Amino acid sequence: MAVKIPRTPVREQDPQVRATNFEEVCYGYNAEEAALEASRCLNCPRPRCVQACPVGLNIPGFIKALHEGDTAGAAAIIAQDSSLPSVCGRVCPQESQCEGSCVLGIKSEPVAIGKLERYVGDWKIAHSAECADTLAPRNGHKVAVIGSGPSGLACASDLARLGYEVKIFEALHKVGGVLVYGIPEFRLPKEAIVAREVDNVRKLGVEIETDVVVGRTITIDQLMDDEGYEAVFIGSGAGLPRFMGIPGENLNGVFSANEYLTRANLMKAYDKDYDTPIYEGKRIVVVGGGNVAMDAVRTAKRMGAEAFIVYRRSEAELPARVEEVHHAKQEGIEFRMLTNPVAVLGDEQGKVTGIECVRMELGEPDESGRRRPVEIPDSKYTLECDTVIMALGTSPNPLIKHTTAGLDTNRKGCIVADEQGRTTRPGIFAGGDAVTGAATVILAMGAGRKAAAAIHEYISSK
Ligand SMILES: Cc1cc2nc3c(=O)[nH]c(=O)nc-3n(C[C@H](O)[C@H](O)[C@H](O)COP(=O)(O)OP(=O)(O)OC[C@H]3O[C@@H](n4cnc5c(N)ncnc54)[C@H](O)[C@@H]3O)c2cc1C
Ligand code: SF4
Repeated sequence: MAVKIPRTPVREQDPQVRATNFEEVCYGYNAEEAALEASRCLNCPRPRCVQACPVGLNIPGFIKALHEGDTAGAAAIIAQDSSLPSVCGRVCPQESQCEGSCVLGIKSEPVAIGKLERYVGDWKIAHSAECADTLAPRNGHKVAVIGSGPSGLACASDLARLGYEVKIFEALHKVGGVLVYGIPEFRLPKEAIVAREVDNVRKLGVEIETDVVVGRTITIDQLMDDEGYEAVFIGSGAGLPRFMGIPGENLNGVFSANEYLTRANLMKAYDKDYDTPIYEGKRIVVVGGGNVAMDAVRTAKRMGAEAFIVYRRSEAELPARVEEVHHAKQEGIEFRMLTNPVAVLGDEQGKVTGIECVRMELGEPDESGRRRPVEIPDSKYTLECDTVIMALGTSPNPLIKHTTAGLDTNRKGCIVADEQGRTTRPGIFAGGDAVTGAATVILAMGAGRKAAAAIHEYISSK
């Protein structure tokens, strides 16, 4: 029966309209649509989707509760493994995780697990008064959390539920990490979703102090020796952009995607009521193929530019979520695949005039298992543009490592930590992008939760 019901389509803003605004693209399911989609789940005895979710969410369990009309029960089941369902339902790469393993996908289309999770998460936010956690009695122990991204928020929430006095120190003036400064409003609404998730963390008793750069304003040693924190969790992310090292990268009009997106999202440069300066290019080339590249190019389009993606491999290797690539194409982004930039070109005033590229073809697989792009001889051409945005990945900022003795990092600058987040210094734990390098929200959230359990064990056994 369930196999015969087609996947319930999700309502979205018209592509031509949304390419000119920053409102959310996808409207999500309403109650009837969610109930219909939930009825498609086969409730497999050995669910492959659960194994494919990085936090092992009880997917059939929450979908069954939803199907039975018990949305509060579905929310409670999800809460056992995930503290950010509204966020993960929107941004997880479901096609390579839970939905990619759904058996319905073999002959038909997988259950829309992400959209159902989003529905339950949004329901919980709308009913937060009824679903509020009771404040745990304090246990007299203090823990500091550095960074308010998904890893820090998840770690802080779990510790607060265990009775710890937790304070998050955040460098920026807004709370949420990449959820507020990177992922754009049209994918993840800031006030309606992120701010409400942060409110829930505060309601658990977690204190959050913004504008504190740990390593500058205060060091980890000062937090532990002078302020009485018995353990510290580092969830400082990977915000340091990479460039290609090609000629012309210092020209006026070349940006990192991080800077461009931070101006647009966090500093609201797209909103005429804000006076944040942003380079308003007419033809913008974004170099890269991940989620960051898609976010930058779709933001540029919404700012009125003709916008291009330049990526050195083929479409099959694009690391971005399939939905983001699909949405970008619908919005009129031009994709130049198998194209590698070799120089940024400029005029006598030092302003970008174009990007010189070579065409590529795919050769043998490299160490990542993907086919290596190989340059086609004599294939150079120029793509005219006035702005180039580099979205080539990021690495952790070295500030905390440089100001904390005994904290080992690997050759990529990532903090060395075990599965539970224990670093090379007792009492200091780490997780999320600061440990793995740029990864995903769900992995960061999972790492924060594991570290919270390890911190509890560490302090309890002292
Ligand atoms: C544009 C963009 C789009 C993305 N899209 C997706 C997606 O679609 N799906 C997905 O799953 N993942 C996506 N990601 C990746 C995902 O957002 C990250 O993997 C995740 O946010 C990492 O969480 P985190 O807690 O480790 O770090 P972050 O979210 O980076 O948060 C770290 C926080 O620590 C703060 N901080 C840093 N240093 C200090 C310091 N010294 N003192 C105090 N605070 C400090 C930072 O200001 C920041 O707020 C995207 C990333 C970007 C940049
Ligand atoms: S957390 Fe992500 S991977 Fe896990 S079930 Fe939800 S959408 Fe799928």
